[in-house]
Amino acid sequence: LPNRTFFQQALDIALEQAAEKRQYLAIFFIDIDRFKVVNDTLGHPVGDQLIKDLSDRLRQQLPSQTLLARWGGDEFTLLLSNIPHPENTQTLAEELQSILQSPFVLQGQEFHITSSIGIALYPQDGGEALTLLKHADIALYRAKDSGRNCYRFYSPHLDRPTSELLRLETHLHYALPRQELFLCYQPLVDVHRGQICGVEALIRWNHPEFGLIPPDQFISLAEETSLINRIGAWVMTTACAQNKAWQAQGLPPMQISVNLSARQIYKQPVAALVHQALTTTGLDPQWLELEITESSLMQDFVMAEHCLKELRQLGVRVAMDDFGTGYSSLSYFRKFSFDTIKIDQSFVRDVEQDPVNLAIVHSLVDLVQKTDRHLVIEGVETASQMRLLQDTGCNIMQGYLFCEPLRTEVITEKLWEWHRLGRFPLPALNDRAGVFRNA
Ligand code: C2E
Ligand code: CA
Ligand code: CA
Repeated sequence: LPNRTFFQQALDIALEQAAEKRQYLAIFFIDIDRFKVVNDTLGHPVGDQLIKDLSDRLRQQLPSQTLLARWGGDEFTLLLSNIPHPENTQTLAEELQSILQSPFVLQGQEFHITSSIGIALYPQDGGEALTLLKHADIALYRAKDSGRNCYRFYSPHLDRPTSELLRLETHLHYALPRQELFLCYQPLVDVHRGQICGVEALIRWNHPEFGLIPPDQFISLAEETSLINRIGAWVMTTACAQNKAWQAQGLPPMQISVNLSARQIYKQPVAALVHQALTTTGLDPQWLELEITESSLMQDFVMAEHCLKELRQLGVRVAMDDFGTGYSSLSYFRKFSFDTIKIDQSFVRDVEQDPVNLAIVHSLVDLVQKTDRHLVIEGVETASQMRLLQDTGCNIMQGYLFCEPLRTEVITEKLWEWHRLGRFPLPALNDRAGVFRNA
């Protein structure tokens, strides 16, 4: 493929022509999501092969009048000149993303990748090459920020949040000392018994100027700046202390789940941190579960395995979070000793349309039962999803249908209410999300 320099030269020429003939242009920034994982786990030769294979695919899909270039690493740029309607580029973005989604076969193994795309249009998004490239990059950044695997068109209002995000980093340093962080708790419900079996602690940031900021918008920032160590330690202690406080108030003991980020696993003596939190709060380790995402386990098998072992020696439980978003290899079941797997929300989302999803949940239930583990299904939003999933034998569920993540005061009140009632009030068959949506 042409390189960056070639692309920039071609863009200059195309812009001149477009100005002369009053034509539209579009620039795409295409980035492969989580490509680093492929490189890190399978090595660079496999990563290189993947880059070649996917550029072949992209090239085959492209209409004439387009120039595809390798910008660098796993980033590609695309130039579409002389397009009749700039809005039509949306279809192309969708097509490109969809052809990249069918699996790649490397060394006899299947790989699934997704991509994010940022789009800038000439003339509305800028008249010069540099501006257009910058704007396509901002749009790409927003696509990544929206959870990846999507495309975004540039729009001027995108500029603002991006620069805000840069400022966010400075603010994040003060978030802890200024007590702007707090935890919400979302119940895990045993739908078979109609009981709560635990809560997951989910962090929130209440910024005096920007308002409430969800974790997706600052956890990765915290990881990049290593602030995650202090924030993670605070979450651990706060969650353990809260669970201990509920027990001291006389509520029946239940498990609390705390999320660990990859950086905590690989860059920090996390077992020491957990030990410290348990000792200072006096919480019995059996009431603490740590959630580690499937994708963070993949980064370094040996180290992850070691970390999991240390944690389990402390007597705490370990859950694999977001199962189904990485390679979902069955060998994880042999390799790692964890107590729970949490199936990712994406399985639930189209469980009613896609019988394959349901079949996967079915077989996971079987596997989990035979290996004496627990299965939790996340993101259950409707009663019909609940019924379908319950039929597979999966009983522990989490989702807006049952309860949103709630602030300490609210969840404490609810916990007492459900305790007095003797059960968790399960939703009726026709309920949609939102039994309690007041976090
Ligand atoms: P997660 O661990 O997968 O947590 C579940 C997320 O799904 C939460 O988002 C929760 O509010 C949301 N959720 C729950 N039920 C439903 C539902 O029915 N439908 C939908 N669409 N969503 C539902 P939240 O609180 O925004 O957290 C996002 C992610 O941020 C978490 O994903 C977790 O990976 C991370 N995170 C949250 N708190 C912490 C923390 O203290 N430390 C670390 N390292 N990561 C955290
Ligand atoms: Ca989690
Ligand atoms: Ca999850």
